[in-house]
Amino acid sequence: MNDLTILVVEDDASVRNLMAMTLRAHQYRYRTAASGEGAMRELTARAPDVVLLDLGLPDMDGVDIIKSVRAWSELPIIVISARSEDSDKIAALDAGADDYLTKPFSVDELLARLRVVQRRLARSAPDSEPVFVNGALEIDYRAAEVRVAGQTVALTPNEYKLLCLFAKNAGKVLTHTYITDKLWGNSLESDVATLRVFMASLRRKLETAPAQPKLFQTHVGIGYRMNKL
Ligand code: CA
Repeated sequence: MNDLTILVVEDDASVRNLMAMTLRAHQYRYRTAASGEGAMRELTARAPDVVLLDLGLPDMDGVDIIKSVRAWSELPIIVISARSEDSDKIAALDAGADDYLTKPFSVDELLARLRVVQRRLARSAPDSEPVFVNGALEIDYRAAEVRVAGQTVALTPNEYKLLCLFAKNAGKVLTHTYITDKLWGNSLESDVATLRVFMASLRRKLETAPAQPKLFQTHVGIGYRMNKL
């Protein structure tokens, strides 16, 4: 039995049933809501561990649900939407969604995304680790030291800050706006260009094969993700 409780928010009964069937078959506990109002009721009554959220709901836009949840909770939200435009993805990710699946989605992909969330929840459990490890990368927070395969890597303060932001959100796509806001407290166009420069130097310093980046994945026009290795 998986110990996660998942809230499925989907107004389309056939999609909702498919998700319920999938979750049941994989021993996930779940509840369902067919409207925005129903979702808000479920969310406030008994907070689930993860939300699978459709954006096009009859009474509410899913993005507004994300915003209101984020006012009080960091619980993982995976958007599953027919909206496939980058601008829709950006809006959902900027509002605080953790991940985005486009319909029609594959059941295997949904399960894989859930496993990512599950690993993150397990890892971020009580007191956070003093050392972050991802593949060959290690961040020793106490010493503010970064190592790749045991070798210390010198980072500038900005690069270190950027790396810590990715580490804190490993597995999540971070939008350009989100990153520049966190780093510099604003998000000017010019910052996106600066960010690209920082990303290039982080990759040069941290990727074991910079020509085939594995650690940092670019989402063109959206942002970057630190992959879990
Ligand atoms: Ca819908």
